[in-house]
Amino acid sequence: MSLGDIRHWVFDMDGTLTVAVHDFAAIREALDIPSEHDILTHLAALPAAEAVAKHAWLLEHERDLAIASKAADGAVELVRELARRDCRLAILTRNARELAHVTLEAIGLADCFPVELILGRDEAAPKPSPDGVLQIARAWGVSPGAMVMVGDYRFDLDCGRAAGTRTVLVNLPDNPWPQLADWHAADCRALRALLG
Ligand SMILES: [Mg+2]
Repeated sequence: MSLGDIRHWVFDMDGTLTVAVHDFAAIREALDIPSEHDILTHLAALPAAEAVAKHAWLLEHERDLAIASKAADGAVELVRELARRDCRLAILTRNARELAHVTLEAIGLADCFPVELILGRDEAAPKPSPDGVLQIARAWGVSPGAMVMVGDYRFDLDCGRAAGTRTVLVNLPDNPWPQLADWHAADCRALRALLG
């Protein structure tokens, strides 16, 4: 199957459609999270009151980042091209759905992704779990084998593999995970060229 034949596309957002701006080291320091801990997993294990306060801080911090989002190279052109070809488009992100929508508005792509097809950390188990992709497959009524998952990190690829989709790695000059990616493109402009 060539990439241009695939009609159902799921995108990671941060670092894939946008330029990565999360400063995870600064977030960990502000929230007193050890550097080796996963942020969301760490917050989930805290006493309720502390978890609520830290989640609120994270949401505010991320809202500022969302409003200032910049599109990744070629991302707007890629998504517009897929929409022009009548492909179905969804987002699976570890960000919150509302902030993902704010981000997509900031880069001018909000009209391409129906809000119910933006799955954030409150709608699906976090990647690398296949949960979000499987939810999207059910919503579309297609088998994961007809879908492709696009992302900039191995969790995106693991998630696609676990769900049974094809996978694309973007925005890394080299591919550190060749066994997990069906296609690799240095950026979204190069990915668009692969559509043929
Ligand atoms: Mg990412």
